[in-house]
Amino acid sequence: MRKALVIGNWKMNGRLAANEALLNGLSSGAECLSDDVEVAVCPPSVYIAQAASLLQKSSIGVGAQNIATQASGAFTGEVSAEMLTDFGCEWVIAGHSERRSLYGESDQDVALKVAKAVESGIVPVICVGETLEEREAGQALARVRSQLEAALAQLEGDQLASIVVAYEPVWAIGTGLTATPDQAQEVHQVLRQALNECQVDLGDKVRILYGGSVNAANADSLFAQPDIDGGLIGGASLKVDDFLAICRAA
Ligand code: 13P
Repeated sequence: MRKALVIGNWKMNGRLAANEALLNGLSSGAECLSDDVEVAVCPPSVYIAQAASLLQKSSIGVGAQNIATQASGAFTGEVSAEMLTDFGCEWVIAGHSERRSLYGESDQDVALKVAKAVESGIVPVICVGETLEEREAGQALARVRSQLEAALAQLEGDQLASIVVAYEPVWAIGTGLTATPDQAQEVHQVLRQALNECQVDLGDKVRILYGGSVNAANADSLFAQPDIDGGLIGGASLKVDDFLAICRAA
């Protein structure tokens, strides 16, 4: 049985004082959450230490939004897997559509990041998703399948089960447009099938999250779908009440 999972992606938001209020609110709210849901937040890297410290006594985990493909050295601006583990990061978002479209991350870069995370004991949350043009051209399913297969290229054996997949249709991110539960379920089912084709029973083990304008009002119907195991939450993860409501819906 796959445990429900909700991850907050803060993106480039937050300041020390605001984070403190948000993290303290989440930490106390988490006491009332069911043990059946796992929760984590991914702040900007400079605030990972703050989040780890303020969430220390809570069940909420901490993750990063990006990871270097290299271990160390002359890579100005990058943050390595070991640096993330120094601060207790258990998760890292890999291949978010904003990194693909704004910073030119290729499928090959994503595969290297995924492998580096897994080797370091960090669970990569592998993002896949089609653009509106691709959806309208009937290419959504082929697009997400190829992104997923490319992201797994460097993994083998047991490593394959140490991942999470997030389906985030690009047209639904930050737009207020959410995929309908049926649209999301269709893609999640195809992704699960692709995992099963990659390795026997892999699809039964790996959690597949939905992301894209999830809020307290639409989370229930999305998470009720059989192949949606939780959510990757952007804007609504910055508000204590909204994020906790989404966690309760999972
Ligand atoms: P929103 O929830 O703000 O649409 O962002 C989704 C997302 O990109 C999470 O990674």
